[in-house]
Amino acid sequence: MSNLGFHFLFGELSGSGGLRVERAFRDTAPVTLESGSPLSGFKVIFFSISYEEDYINLVRMLFESGIETSRERRGGSPLIVAGGAAVSGNPFPLLDIADLFCIGEGEAPIGAIKDALAEMGPGEVEGLGDRLVGSKGIFVPGHGASFAERASADNFSKSAILTPSTVFPETLLAESGRGCPGRCTFCLARSLYHPFRPLPVAEFDRYIGRCASQVGRVGLVSTSVAAHPEFERLVDSLLEREISVSFSSLRAEDIDESKAAAISRAGTRSVSLAPESGSERVRFAIGKRVPDDTYMLAGDLLAAAGVRNFTLYFLAGALAEEERMVEETKGFLKRFKAVVRGSRISVHLNPLVPKPWTPMQYYAMPRANDLELSIEKIAAVCRELGMRIRRKSTRSALRQALLSTGDSRVGDAIVRMVTDGTSWKKALEMEKVDIDFPHETKGRGTRFAWEAIEGPVSRDTLIDIYERMGESGVVS
Ligand code: SF4
Repeated sequence: MSNLGFHFLFGELSGSGGLRVERAFRDTAPVTLESGSPLSGFKVIFFSISYEEDYINLVRMLFESGIETSRERRGGSPLIVAGGAAVSGNPFPLLDIADLFCIGEGEAPIGAIKDALAEMGPGEVEGLGDRLVGSKGIFVPGHGASFAERASADNFSKSAILTPSTVFPETLLAESGRGCPGRCTFCLARSLYHPFRPLPVAEFDRYIGRCASQVGRVGLVSTSVAAHPEFERLVDSLLEREISVSFSSLRAEDIDESKAAAISRAGTRSVSLAPESGSERVRFAIGKRVPDDTYMLAGDLLAAAGVRNFTLYFLAGALAEEERMVEETKGFLKRFKAVVRGSRISVHLNPLVPKPWTPMQYYAMPRANDLELSIEKIAAVCRELGMRIRRKSTRSALRQALLSTGDSRVGDAIVRMVTDGTSWKKALEMEKVDIDFPHETKGRGTRFAWEAIEGPVSRDTLIDIYERMGESGVVS
């Protein structure tokens, strides 16, 4: 319930009339939350998947509900529709499992599905996929597909339900912008949701004015909330109505005195920033063209505005001249520690995972041992400086890389693991998954599964950017 994509889906479908729509989660399956009905009794099941590792949960939910996981054997009963960021990047691991995929922003494909269901009449879903072949943003296995049209900023998502049972309890989530002005070469969100579109403030005011009496807290959701050109007005329009406000994600380059003051008025005490690398040289090379000084200024302004906890996100991987990078990271963290004047700093270390439709799809991910060593070098610096560390396990990062760059064989391995209890390693082996693929050197001749779909950005653009990174000597 912290995922706005899920709220959008639930709100759109249940608001369309004539459909009985209920929610189910990994921890409520095999039944729904609302009426406790078995999932297997529904005609259509929609999955909103933001993270690749939820492909495994999708298969678990089907299996535990007694629903056939193979699309072919299931025969459309029920019909499985998958969408969300991970699926938009690469739906192919689910190729033999789902019947329909929503690719790109959800507004257009969900609209097309709703219209088709309405035309087909009550209870009818047979042939839904055939009707939708060729609709933008819909991928029916065996047919071509292209990304959905970008949605208008006037219709950005808001919570469909307020609930205490979520990471943001009783908080109305509102999408304050989509896309990001940044150009980070590893970022799937940037590729999928480009260009940056801020929510019009007048539209937001109208909406909040209508529901202010029922809302005590609003969470502004965007990849870059403070990049909104009228960020301060958004914040103040809530505070003036005595609605408290929180932010999903802030970028250092958006923080100036005025925005730090608005963050202070909102009472924010914890902020996450993502320098990705403590080395300015590496950061620029991977597309995050933000100087060290910008982080120092943001840290200074935010600490002065009352922020007491900083979380810094760093990427780890085999970047060339690693020793130099580690030294530069140490210098960066020392400076940051000084400017935030005693605030607590936690560092999250995540291996860089190649994502579809990004220049980094060509990146050869290091193998587990090298990744471990790379993470450990930065972790040692953080420990020396008294900072708390959280690190993503390399095992999980490598699984994510296989899921994000794999094809239907990866999906078959998931099915085998879930239904037979086979280990992941063994299942990959039995389904002949090319486990070396994420680690291989790639180039202009490489073909990716997802290129069967007309993507949001051309492969020439992606490879040109990647090759320029190689020339900079930063990506090995
Ligand atoms: S700043 Fe964040 S959201 Fe924007 S492109 Fe970079 S990683 Fe993606």
